[in-house]
Amino acid sequence: MSLHIPLENSYARLPDRFFSRMLPVPVKAPTLLAFNHGLAKELGIKPGPDDVMAQVFGGNTPPEGAEPLAQVYAGHQFGGFSPQLGDGRAHLLGEIVTPGGARVDLQLKGSGPTPYSRMGDGRAWLGPVLREYVVSEAMHALGIPTSRALAAVATGESVYRDTGAMPGAVLTRVATSHLRVGTFQYFAARRDMPGLKALFDYAAQRHAPEAETPADLLETVIDRQAQLVAQWMSVGFIHGVMNTDNTSISGETIDYGPCAFMDGFHPDTVFSSIDAQGRYAFSNQPNVIVWNMAQLATALVGLMPNQDAAVSEFTQLVHAMPDRIHAHWLAAYGRKIGIAQATPEDETLITDLLQAMAENDADFTNTFRALVDGTARDHFTDPAAFDRWAPSWQDRIKSEAAPFETMRAANPVYIPRNHQVEHMIQAAVSGDFRPFDRLMRVLSDPFTRQDGADDLTRPPGPSEVVHRTFCG
Ligand code: AMP
Ligand code: MG
Ligand code: MG
Repeated sequence: MSLHIPLENSYARLPDRFFSRMLPVPVKAPTLLAFNHGLAKELGIKPGPDDVMAQVFGGNTPPEGAEPLAQVYAGHQFGGFSPQLGDGRAHLLGEIVTPGGARVDLQLKGSGPTPYSRMGDGRAWLGPVLREYVVSEAMHALGIPTSRALAAVATGESVYRDTGAMPGAVLTRVATSHLRVGTFQYFAARRDMPGLKALFDYAAQRHAPEAETPADLLETVIDRQAQLVAQWMSVGFIHGVMNTDNTSISGETIDYGPCAFMDGFHPDTVFSSIDAQGRYAFSNQPNVIVWNMAQLATALVGLMPNQDAAVSEFTQLVHAMPDRIHAHWLAAYGRKIGIAQATPEDETLITDLLQAMAENDADFTNTFRALVDGTARDHFTDPAAFDRWAPSWQDRIKSEAAPFETMRAANPVYIPRNHQVEHMIQAAVSGDFRPFDRLMRVLSDPFTRQDGADDLTRPPGPSEVVHRTFCG
């Protein structure tokens, strides 16, 4: 018995060199750990018994109509180009056309080796699977475009990592697509112009139906990524591995690895264990996304009929991106201090506050939220620093119609704090899923204060601070 999931396979209709057909590798003892009923409903999937869903989302019995495949792509990893990467531990099962009419990918991650696994084992362990599950769903609840988590299945097998033998798991994720900047780079680097053209046609149809030219697609992606990164910046999110193969064409957050939210506001914060140089530090994300869009521009430009004109047009689009990001950043941070439509004149108010926060180890999330209830000064090691800033702010928001509503809608009470995510993972490894369930419940409504959840607003104590998060 399998689940009935109506799948289409438009990606599998692309030329053969876009992917390798490949079944997920069955796992020993699949057990359903988590299933996202709300998302299933949006997708039009009717849940089955747990053991059936474990077989399906563990990869043992792909749904009828699935044409599983691993996608090929390339990418700049920490600035160095890898001409061939690809899904080394993921399988695209197909696409679901939702009752709402959207086409989304259904993908398993941790589902076994593929021709693109290189030295990897094709697997994932429970920790990163649950981190991605919790953080991606939290991002969605925060209103930030992201891939979603549909299911997590324990494999009953061990996965060997630096930390020893860890319990294996498979994540089922849903995204508007898994097309990446690196997908375009793959065909461009090989000078496969028919492949690049086919990819452009496919990507435009799925993500920018109004786009007539590669220039239009580039502009659409730049616009979406500018918005996306500004939204990350507005909640203190650090992606961790903004390689071009982890940068989506859809403008969604994808490929959650060693990601984290900041506690105390420090713009240079890095969490990833593999980011020794701080390339993907919090404050560098707006720079890196421009660099990544320059790589997309470089890949796409070969499709343009007049190269000289296109190079200059694409260069202008990329060069204009910092201003776009900044405009979204200003709007988002304006709302965080109660200004519905911030103008450049409001900018110093924002940057002065951020500077005082950085100098006073102020918790990013709690300080902004406390602006609503008048207790923000308590979050500064020297409350006088806040008191020096506050008068001009209070003066400014006098002319706002509903500054407190604006702030309540822009400043979450709850984010998936790193130490709580780590605590949740440790509990799950020992078989206790209550912290997971609780995080999922509270984080599904992050802008509303909830009874009995105050501990989830607390920054880590000195012994709880997580300095490094690891990949999976
Ligand atoms: P990432 O930056 O973590 O998204 O992964 C970079 C590349 O490494 C992708 O092509 C992944 O599919 C591949 N990869 C990561 N971990 C594994 C693994 N355990 N087994 C096989 N491939 C992997
Ligand atoms: Mg093939
Ligand atoms: Mg990746």
